[in-house]
Amino acid sequence: MKFELEDFHRNISDEALINDIKQVAAGTKHNFLTIRQYSKHGKFSADTIIRRFGTWIRAIEKAGFKATRQQLKGVAEEELFENLEEVWVKLGRQPRWREMRSSISKYGPNRYGRYFGSWQKALEKFVVYVNKEGTISSEAGIKSLKIGPTTKHRTSRTINWRLRFLVMRRDDFKCKICGTSPAIKPGTTLHVDHIKAWTKGGETALENLQTLCKRCNIGKSNL
Ligand SMILES: [Zn+2]
Repeated sequence: MKFELEDFHRNISDEALINDIKQVAAGTKHNFLTIRQYSKHGKFSADTIIRRFGTWIRAIEKAGFKATRQQLKGVAEEELFENLEEVWVKLGRQPRWREMRSSISKYGPNRYGRYFGSWQKALEKFVVYVNKEGTISSEAGIKSLKIGPTTKHRTSRTINWRLRFLVMRRDDFKCKICGTSPAIKPGTTLHVDHIKAWTKGGETALENLQTLCKRCNIGKSNL
């Protein structure tokens, strides 16, 4: 029962998080692990780890890895994309340059401009990056994945941020039940929900995910 609570990772020890990073890294044959690689194979959400250790790099270092300059750059890019996704979801639409200066964004627009060349380029790169996820998160992509011997599921329970974004974008950043959206009603929190519960065999795939507002999502789980 405890496994079904939304923040069931809250009581996980630092050690358990670090050990999972080590375990996933061991399977990749690399001496480093990106957020993306971890999200695909890890037991916990990368968000949980970043929140716990402050940054992804710090967590990786705790696990005994030392990042090269190239790897640091890759992680910086992922963090910028992840933040952009968060702001986009909070607004329910594409953020404008000036909105990146407000408190809903961890990084200002100039940071994006410096890194990607311009704010417009940052948006374009972001869309390309997010779309790469599409091939693996559809039912067809999942069928082509190998089935592990220890699990009935072909996907992890965690919905990574790129997939969350794809679902919300498909649903127009609107709740599938009541139709509310942060773009209509600022402050609305949207969640991505498994239509068929993961614990009942539902997969973490586009077709089995839907956008719900916080209120409808809580209503659904009380049924
Ligand atoms: Zn709703």
